[in-house]
Amino acid sequence: MERSSELYARAKDLMPGGVNSPIRACLSVECEPLFIKKGEGAILTTEDGKEYIDFVEGWGPMLLGHAHPDVTKAIQESAANSACFGAPCLGEVELAQMIIDAMPGVDMVRMVSSGTEATMTALRLARGYTGRNKFIKFTGNYHGHGDPFLAAAGSGFADLAIPGTPGVPAGTVQDTLLVPYNDIEAVRKQFEANGDEIACIIVEPTAGNMGLIPPVEGFLEGLREVCDQYGALLIFDEVITGFRLSYGGAQARFGVTPDLTTLGKIIGGGMPVGAYGGKREIMDRVAPTGNIFQAGTNSGNPVVMAAGIATLKVLQNADYDALEARVAAFAKELHAIIASKGVDVTYNTLASMFTMFFTSEKVTHFDQAKACNAKMYASFYQQMRAQGVYLASLGLEAAMVSFAHTDEHFEKALEAARNVKF
Ligand code: PLP
Repeated sequence: MERSSELYARAKDLMPGGVNSPIRACLSVECEPLFIKKGEGAILTTEDGKEYIDFVEGWGPMLLGHAHPDVTKAIQESAANSACFGAPCLGEVELAQMIIDAMPGVDMVRMVSSGTEATMTALRLARGYTGRNKFIKFTGNYHGHGDPFLAAAGSGFADLAIPGTPGVPAGTVQDTLLVPYNDIEAVRKQFEANGDEIACIIVEPTAGNMGLIPPVEGFLEGLREVCDQYGALLIFDEVITGFRLSYGGAQARFGVTPDLTTLGKIIGGGMPVGAYGGKREIMDRVAPTGNIFQAGTNSGNPVVMAAGIATLKVLQNADYDALEARVAAFAKELHAIIASKGVDVTYNTLASMFTMFFTSEKVTHFDQAKACNAKMYASFYQQMRAQGVYLASLGLEAAMVSFAHTDEHFEKALEAARNVKF
């Protein structure tokens, strides 16, 4: 029996589904998970000693690739000075400064320990600041597992939120207004109906959790405009896009400045992290300056800050444009190879992300993404994995490429794709 299988069998007895986050169980691609022992650059090594080219990157944090020497050194040095103080430290000030310098919409920032914490608090802050309760969330956007975000559209009630999971009371999502992504007219309609009750819009400024779906032209600008018109706040959830779409995230790339920004993933260099920030007058409402409460034992943890600072220092000098061009060329070729097998497939790519959608239609909306052929993705995933290419264990996730991916990695992945049979 393979070591991964053996560990999975043990894990299933010890943890729900054998995992600490559901997607890792690989259920939708009908595989057992691989247990990873080591990562170096773009390569993951499993407990069985097999190597894989990684297109997941820990779901986004590892833009520099695994175990970048600067990041590893920073973590080691910081850990040697203790893993936790629960008191202010230099690293918090340095990382805060770097984030503020990079992000046009961030005058002040608060560190937390996950993206989920960041979005939950940003919503609380928007509600507290505006004195309003309702907020707009786009179907197919993911903002972590905070209760108000776990709403799905009930059939026939496109804008009526019902809890997407047991354990979330209906009352918790009754103020969640669901709107299709990239549909500015639907947003305007919500504001026409509920304008003076809407605290904020929260949006992935490029969606990465329903496959990669960039904003259509004018969408983000439209959100900014409508928020200004009705006195609502615009929250960009940049947990994926921050420091990935450009060093200054989606807001720098698209030139639309949100009132609040949520971050995670890359700013912790792989360590558990989140952050929210925004305009000074809004952030001043957070305790202890203001009366909107949020706290955390590990918020601003020194080792996490050290990993984040080291990561951003490398990224300051990284050639984002060159990586984007390489990823665009790779995705184009990968698409051509799959399409040549007579399969319906389209793709989206932006910066260092891409998604192959097993459908004939260009995907700009969640409904189109959901209509993709999941069985075909599962087959693609399994055959690529068997040849040493590690893809997301769900078709509706963006593939991630790092600065550590070389032309050789791309060529090997393309060769694997050529061998796939549908
Ligand atoms: N927001 C977005 C856009 C995400 O992609 C994620 C996680 O993937 C989150 C929030 C939640 O972050 P975390 O998993 O760190 O809680």
